[in-house]
Amino acid sequence: MDLVNVYIDAGHGAQGNPGNESAFCVDEQDFTLSLAEDLARRLPGLGPFAIKLSRQGEQRTEYADRITEAKDWGADAFISLHSDVRGPGYAWKQVQGRDCYRNEGHGGFAILWSDETVDSTLAAGRKDLAQRLAVEMIAHGFTAYDGADYPGLYDTTSPGVFVDRHSPERRIRVLRRPAMPSVIIETHQAWDVGEAIAWNLPETRAVFAAAVARALAPASAR
Ligand SMILES: [Zn+2]
Repeated sequence: MDLVNVYIDAGHGAQGNPGNESAFCVDEQDFTLSLAEDLARRLPGLGPFAIKLSRQGEQRTEYADRITEAKDWGADAFISLHSDVRGPGYAWKQVQGRDCYRNEGHGGFAILWSDETVDSTLAAGRKDLAQRLAVEMIAHGFTAYDGADYPGLYDTTSPGVFVDRHSPERRIRVLRRPAMPSVIIETHQAWDVGEAIAWNLPETRAVFAAAVARALAPASAR
């Protein structure tokens, strides 16, 4: 069976772009790298997958280079991992003199995609990938975010699936530039203490990998 080439992007980690800070003051770029490495280790055992990671260790990689690399490698799917921070945060503890913020609620995952392209096959591929990921994450016990903080930024098309509605100059590059279907998975609300803890547990990550594997499996293996 042919392998499915999955490009796993550890979101952020470009120069000067660390992303959000979790309820425990962990940079998003460090969370996404650790989750991406975990997913890359697990996926080949769960189906016919070949994996490439967008960055490793202290490497800082520009987004344009990731998109080029995914194309040159022949990626079939581009999965960008992120976490979100939603709602008003309030300071609750300090780590090394920095305030960390939390907000219980606004939780759950969100799969983001873009319908901006003249290529209708690519647009359909993005939407299909987003929907399959959301369906499998829900089936594996993850809660879909309700989108309450997203008006004007994203429209929801089905539970947990959101299409980019930012103004044109603010649209998200990894959703509209890759040559293959691409999505962002906002895995959780990083200011929710319970979600932040859960997404660092190997049990959660194992179930997440199983959901991603089901969503990415070739039609013949579903
Ligand atoms: Zn992010």
